[in-house]
Amino acid sequence: LSPEDIELEPDSHLGAGACGVVMKGVIKQSGIPVAVKTVKVDDQAKREQLINEIRGLVAADGCVNLVHWYAGFMSKRTMIVHVALEFMDLGSLADLKKRLGGYGVEPVYLSNITAQIMNGLDYLHKKKMLHRDIKPENILHNRQGEVKLTDFGIAKDLDQTLAMAGTFVGTVTYMSPERCLGQDYSFASDIWSVGMVIFELSTGRYPFADVTSFVVLFDHLCEQPEPRLDPEYFPAELVEFDAYCLTRDVSRRPDTEFLLAHPFVTYNVPTVEQLAEWLVSFSG
Ligand code: ADP
Repeated sequence: LSPEDIELEPDSHLGAGACGVVMKGVIKQSGIPVAVKTVKVDDQAKREQLINEIRGLVAADGCVNLVHWYAGFMSKRTMIVHVALEFMDLGSLADLKKRLGGYGVEPVYLSNITAQIMNGLDYLHKKKMLHRDIKPENILHNRQGEVKLTDFGIAKDLDQTLAMAGTFVGTVTYMSPERCLGQDYSFASDIWSVGMVIFELSTGRYPFADVTSFVVLFDHLCEQPEPRLDPEYFPAELVEFDAYCLTRDVSRRPDTEFLLAHPFVTYNVPTVEQLAEWLVSFSG
């Protein structure tokens, strides 16, 4: 594919990320819709970050639960990079949360969504890749009921945690306790982030109510009891699964293989078609 093969839809702003915008487009010959990420790479660091991301996407292609990558172009003249990704017509799980208007995802459907997230993550981890930035905005879904991770393989600032301590902006974070302590990112850190996302989707709200400073966040992550779903309101399998993910002790936090065998994602899980039907029922 070359840039001429893709036609961008005018006024089709899908979202804005950390370093660019995402627009809808179409591959002219086939009519296949794509999401085109446009990133201005005015400095060497950003360029390297994007090239790393593209490498990650290529290396990880071949799993249904990872967003498919069609092409990446770079204009040397304008320093703009375009990445054409599989278009996910229901947007991110942050969009899903918004559509639910404060309600949580029904546990039965959440079990399928979780299974798909874990499957994508398992694929990455088996390839010795970390995601590093699992959050609702980076998990996309479509009307076929497919759930896919995006934005993986990105080179992240090594000093992200420390930088955050200095310039806290009050945004929610899916960071693990060990990351908060400045330790290296690991496979287990991705699992914690999934646990945070599952908690948020179950209840319809972010696990910590009052994160106004890094000190408060640190307290929640490293001092207070770990977030736990209330067994009075949620099925036992879901409560247990999420507690496994949100285990502070890294050495006791299970891996993707263990979690993929857990009853929450193996027993009485609706099919992708059933999930699709439910998702479409309130998506207009
Ligand atoms: P960044 O990496 O710069 O943070 P993202 O890749 O997270 O940007 O994209 C930002 C938003 O754009 C997402 O939260 C989502 O709403 C939308 N988006 C991104 N990729 C796609 C896609 N493949 N299909 C549909 N929407 C997308």
